[in-house]
Amino acid sequence: MVRLIFLGPPGAGKGTQAKLLADSHTIPHISTGDILRAAVSDQSPLGVKAKGYMDRGELVPDQLVIELIRERLGESDAQPGWILDGYPRTVVQADSLDGLLAELNQTCDRVINFDVPDEALIERMLSRGRKDDSEDVIRRRLEVYRQQTAPLIDYYQTREKLTTIDGSQAMEDVTTHLYKVV
Ligand code: AMP
Repeated sequence: MVRLIFLGPPGAGKGTQAKLLADSHTIPHISTGDILRAAVSDQSPLGVKAKGYMDRGELVPDQLVIELIRERLGESDAQPGWILDGYPRTVVQADSLDGLLAELNQTCDRVINFDVPDEALIERMLSRGRKDDSEDVIRRRLEVYRQQTAPLIDYYQTREKLTTIDGSQAMEDVTTHLYKVV
């Protein structure tokens, strides 16, 4: 049984690592960013509401993602475990997740904090070249991360859930470190 939260700035490589680890444990990799991008491309009601925020590098409103995660964690494939990638991103989301997990009789085992300096992140994201990755939007996403998401590092540290990994290492080394922790 593995239940993990992956925390870290955009471009830290959490998605890649989450996918590998989720596959090896046969549990779902739940990325709110992936779910929202799919909703945008389907032009579903959720996607229509989320698109403008995402294009600007802002967070979508808490209520939208809180509802999305409530539905997703209720699905049967998520009962044996999960890796949450990119959720929670605000203290409101983290508090809400606490309540939801209590309702589901689940606990999160660990929060893995991927630590990468800003300059390395910007370089990685520019070279990745996704269409939402213009330099202005990248810088805005980092700012939003520092302001709204980084407080979760202390939040989970206080709850003795946090493990920090140096995400600026080569991808294989990050994977090795992660497997030792889990
Ligand atoms: P990501 O792929 O995780 O970087 O997410 C892409 C975009 O989706 C973010 O820049 C936000 O606009 C939105 N998003 C993803 N997860 C969340 C979340 N937990 N809370 C608010 N917005 C989110």
